[in-house]
Amino acid sequence: MNTDRKNCPECGTQSLFQSTTNAGGGYGPVLLPGLGKMAFWGKVQTVMPQFRVVVCAACGLTRFYAEAAACARLPEADNWQRI
Ligand SMILES: [Zn+2]
Repeated sequence: MNTDRKNCPECGTQSLFQSTTNAGGGYGPVLLPGLGKMAFWGKVQTVMPQFRVVVCAACGLTRFYAEAAACARLPEADNWQRI
């Protein structure tokens, strides 16, 4: 998917901003279940995947893009079914 477009697909203006955020954990829902990577710091824990978030400052349209490593795990992940 082309995420480098400069114009908002909803309103067409060039007012796009981007950031990154964790895909859950803490007190919120896990939005990419089963796609985290395992890390070892004395114990096993799951590191939540990151989203790249793109927001249009003109109309508020918000898009989430899962990081490439999480996308690569989808075919083998038990939590996800191909549709
Ligand atoms: Zn827009």
